Amino acid sequence: MRIVFLGPPGAGKGTQAETISREKKLPHISSGNLLREAVETDTETGRKAREYIEKGLLVPDQIVVDIIKDRIVKDDCKDGFILDGFPRTVSQAKVLDEMLKQLGNKLDLVFYFSVSEESVILRLSGRRICSSCGANYHIKFVPSSKDGICDKCGGKLYQRADDKLETVSERLRVYHDQTEDLVEYYKKNGILKEIIADANIKVITKNIFDAIKCTQKNRPLIGYGVV
Ligand code: AMP
Repeated sequence: MRIVFLGPPGAGKGTQAETISREKKLPHISSGNLLREAVETDTETGRKAREYIEKGLLVPDQIVVDIIKDRIVKDDCKDGFILDGFPRTVSQAKVLDEMLKQLGNKLDLVFYFSVSEESVILRLSGRRICSSCGANYHIKFVPSSKDGICDKCGGKLYQRADDKLETVSERLRVYHDQTEDLVEYYKKNGILKEIIADANIKVITKNIFDAIKCTQKNRPLIGYGVV
């Protein structure tokens, strides 16, 4: 299955992608993680992307598209993947459609995580990431057992610079301006499922699993939490 997770920053896409990826054995491809890795390893791409990420702006399409192109042709993606944070503009979506067409594939599902602005701010300001394995935590909703330490690998947890309040409002503005149009784009394609992402994490996971199951069995999806 080829799945896209779409929604504002802080909607819980990364957390859900980790779970679904583990259970469904589909690689979780986060454009944000790939870009941050490039910044950390100081590659040419990373040097170009850094200032955009720090300001909460979108990295130019060409840079992100090239990173995703290289990733989705890898062997582990042959049976599908979960794209988290890509595409973020209609032009990226069109390039993705074209890339998949050339590989003889297409997207099966796009989950649109709809969430209130208050939840986004609460989630992002409390989000902590493991510096070693990248696992996501939240100081209130998904705390690690030991303060500041990752349960999975013992790595140190940190707050992303762009999760600070000033940058969060810029990221939300950019989302409304440049990414929200994708909801209509995928609705027209008939593959969009809206997930009520203000709900409890486990309930959201179940709703996503149900939607995947129904799509695989070609059955209509009727249920709470998925529109
Ligand atoms: P994320 O981890 O998905 O919140 O992404 C963090 C930052 O990486 C964003 O604020 C952008 O600066 C950049 N980024 C991630 N994905 C994309 C994309 N598809 N297009 C452009 N910029 C992106």
